[in-house]
Order: sequence, then C-alpha cells, then structure tokens
Amino acid sequence: MISNNGRLKIAIQRSGRLTDDSLGLLRVCGLEFEFQKQSLYSPCRNFALDVLALRDDDIPEYVQDGVADLGIVGENIVQEKKARVTVLTKLGFGGCRLTLSVPQRSPIKTIRNLRGRRIATTYPSTLRQFLRAKGIRAEIVQLSGSVEIAPTLDVADAICDITSTGTTARMNSLRPLQTVLESEAVLIANKRAHEDSGKKALVDRLLIRVSGSLQAKGKRYMMMNAPVSAVPRLKQIIPSLKSPTVVPLAEEGMVALHSVIAEDVFWDVMERLKKAGASDIVVVPIEMIIK
Ligand code: ATP
Ligand code: ZN
Repeated sequence: MISNNGRLKIAIQRSGRLTDDSLGLLRVCGLEFEFQKQSLYSPCRNFALDVLALRDDDIPEYVQDGVADLGIVGENIVQEKKARVTVLTKLGFGGCRLTLSVPQRSPIKTIRNLRGRRIATTYPSTLRQFLRAKGIRAEIVQLSGSVEIAPTLDVADAICDITSTGTTARMNSLRPLQTVLESEAVLIANKRAHEDSGKKALVDRLLIRVSGSLQAKGKRYMMMNAPVSAVPRLKQIIPSLKSPTVVPLAEEGMVALHSVIAEDVFWDVMERLKKAGASDIVVVPIEMIIK
C-alpha cells in the first residue's frame, strides 16, 4: 500500500494505446518525472504528484477506492467497471467505439435478429445493459481477448468489441451492426478527492494546465508582416483574425499581425493571405491557452 503522504497520485496505463498520449499530456502540463514501465510509480520532481503505472482495467477501481486520486483511462473501461468516480474532463485522445458486428455472410441484418443468439465480448456488463435497454434477449459469451475470431471458431454468432479504424473488422470479414458506445480517454477523480483541501488545491492546479492544453489542441500561432493598408483585407480573410494583435514595425507603414488560428483552416487561407499582401508568414505550435 502506498502511504498517504499528501502527494497526489495519478494512475495511467502502464503499456498500451493510452500510454504515450497520457505521458504527453502530463509532460505538456510541465510535470517532470522519469517513467519506467517496470516500476509501479514515478515521483514527479517539480509537483507534489506520483504517477502510478497500472493495467487500464484496474484504473477505475483503484481511483474509486482511493489508491489513486486521479486516473487517465478510456470511458469504455469506466463504464464497464461501473466505477463510482467523477469524470473531470474528456481528453481528446484514445477515441474508439464499442461495436456489435457479425460475419459478412451472416443472416443477422439488424440488432433485432440477435434474439436468442450468442454474442462474444470482453464487455459483458456494458453489452448486458445495452441489450436490456433494447429489449433483446441474447446469450453473452464472456471472453478475455481475441473476440474477433469467436464467430470463426463458432463460439458466437456476433461480437461486441472495440474498434477505432475498422481495419480489424475488415480483416476478419466482419460487418458492423450498431455502435454500442462511443469512447475516448477521460481524466477521472476519486469522489472524495475534494475533501482533502491540500489535494483539492493540487487537483485544481493540474486541471488548469490540462484545460489549457485541451484549448490549444488543433491550434497554431500565426505571425505575418503586411502593409498597414492591407490589414482590413487580411482581417476579412480569416474570422479569427478579427482581433489580431497588430504591432508596428520599424519600417514605415508596415505592421506585424499575430493571431491564433485553427490548423485545418491555415492551409486554406495561407495563399489568400499572401495575395492580400502578407509576407514572412510564420506558424508555430501552441502548447497551452490558459483563459
Ligand atoms: P492493458 O494491458 O493495460 O490491460 P489493453 O490491451 O487492455 O491494455 P489497449 O489495447 O492498450 O488495452 O487499449 C487501451 C484503451 O485504448 C482501450 O480501453 C480504449 O479506451 C482505447 N482504444 C483506442 N483505440 C482502440 C482500439 N482500436 N482498440 C482497442 N482499444 C482502443
Ligand atoms: Zn486492459
């Protein structure tokens, strides 16, 4: 058992699909620590926080029980474990869905046809709840992995499994019937974390940083030079340039414009900005926007 030393504990997936993004988020938040998969926990040098490396399936329960104060885990796992935790915020990575699928040649066309059939899954609780809500009685075959091969082995007629790109489904000749759950990684907290004022203060400080990094997602900082006379036209080209920072340059009649811009918009407008008189356009990444 880890002692309650007033330090915040955040559980992240030790090794898997969420690990790199979870570490990336903590680093962008300015937390310095050595992360080793083999060690259970990594103390942070510049913040009263320890990073616990766990299997993702264990994270909701550990946060619920207070072994960790915070956790980063998929909504799919939080829901399946029916963990009593508070979801503080979605994190914008680890997107996936829990999908009901059948073999390409299956006579099953809609979820109604699943009546009396066998459905293989590693998400029995979520599936049970879904079927109950739809009024469909079916047999749930609980597996611990490799659900996609269950129909081939004839242990199931359908499967309920996580997909993100659909590649696995296509590779195994599966046809999706219906999405059961849309999921992404979330930051969860112990329900009593706010009772300890010291810890609450730490959580709040961390949350400001996390929100700052979420705000910055998909955004770039753009700077350009232009003649003063071109400024009204440049402002028309992109909505976000409505209130750019306009800085006079040493050269008479020239200004620098600074603005935040969505990265997907940038490529469209860059050429138009040039035509409208902008030059020396510089685009840099943004790590945080703290409102
Ligand atoms: P662990 O060893 O920690 O139990 P795991 O093998 O159960 O790992 P991963 O496959 O690494 O888990 O997936 C972790 C999480 O990533 C999932 O619970 C889900 O929230 C998310 N995820 C995103 N895309 C996918 C995908 N294509 N398949 C599975 N999970 C995905
Ligand atoms: Zn797992």
